[in-house]
Amino acid sequence: MTMAKERKPKTFFIKHKKTKRQQNKFDRLSVPLRYLPETFSRITITCPFCHKIFRPDWFKKHEISMVPVKPKFETKGVEYTGPGRWILQQASQECPKCEANVMIDLPINKMRTKGSLFGDDAERIYENKKVSIYSLIGADQSLLLELDNKIKGVKQKLLPAISQDSWKIHMKDMWAGNRREKHPVFQNLSVNDVVSFIDQLLDLIKRSNLFIYNIAATSAQNIGSNRNGQKHLRDEAYILLVLNAIDEWTTKNAQTNIFFDSEKKSKANETIHGWARDTFKGSQYSLLYGFLSKGIEIPEPKFVPPASFPGLEIADFVSFTIARYYFRMWQGKQIEIDPKNLGLVTYLGYGANGDFLWRRQEGYPWDLFYH
Ligand SMILES: [Zn+2]
Repeated sequence: MTMAKERKPKTFFIKHKKTKRQQNKFDRLSVPLRYLPETFSRITITCPFCHKIFRPDWFKKHEISMVPVKPKFETKGVEYTGPGRWILQQASQECPKCEANVMIDLPINKMRTKGSLFGDDAERIYENKKVSIYSLIGADQSLLLELDNKIKGVKQKLLPAISQDSWKIHMKDMWAGNRREKHPVFQNLSVNDVVSFIDQLLDLIKRSNLFIYNIAATSAQNIGSNRNGQKHLRDEAYILLVLNAIDEWTTKNAQTNIFFDSEKKSKANETIHGWARDTFKGSQYSLLYGFLSKGIEIPEPKFVPPASFPGLEIADFVSFTIARYYFRMWQGKQIEIDPKNLGLVTYLGYGANGDFLWRRQEGYPWDLFYH
């Protein structure tokens, strides 16, 4: 039997006892979130028993993940491959006054379209400061092929004698003269060639109306500084960026598939980064994830071989642009590639008092963020 469209959704009440393996996995994960989107801070719940009005605990680790569940089998032994999912409708939290379990309805949006987002990171150190940057760029699936072709076109124009498939945009190698000279493909390019290539990329990005998200986190880079603190910062920047994108996409009834550049050269199609997996999976046990994903299944972000999608080459460029911007601002030097020319970008970052802040605008909100 298949889960045909005309079948009415059924409601199940789950009292799921975890197997030992599930319990171990559950125990290992934690919810890595501590910032609440402004709109959520206004949401209150009224206890139906004692009428106490309270704010839900958005970051509490629930017993079950808020992720839609795929049926395991079509019929006995035949694995299910269809689109049907069981979607969690409600989650319960304890009333702080009478301790009753209060049911909270989860928002549920229908998935109407899909798309992809491509991510890359960058880092710059200046004096005793370090900035860690992640970018995501992407578009609806109906626009992806055109985007790929446009990227290929710009690459072909830069190096007409070489197949554009045989080389990747890697800004660090293109930009610095000493690295360019040693590079097998870029060695004959002049500064002017590179500058004109950058202008065309900026123009392409701006005119393609891409979704662009960027997060920058600045930390002190002292010798012997807290490595755990830095790891925590990386995990948090990663999940904030991913969840911010998911929230916007599910609001538009869209599922997003997220691909990050794995950095490591590997023969495998996909590299598993334990920290990224745990951060993502851990977040899914929070009520906040239920509200951000809105019942739409978001596949776990994949870490794929460097520049294995044209979108990853654009993500490299965006991360380079922001990283370079930080470096030049810190140096007090003129900006060569102005983020303003990327068009609208959702910029995430931290204020001087540690608050998490974001702006969607043209141009980098330098004064807003701590650096
Ligand atoms: Zn109550």
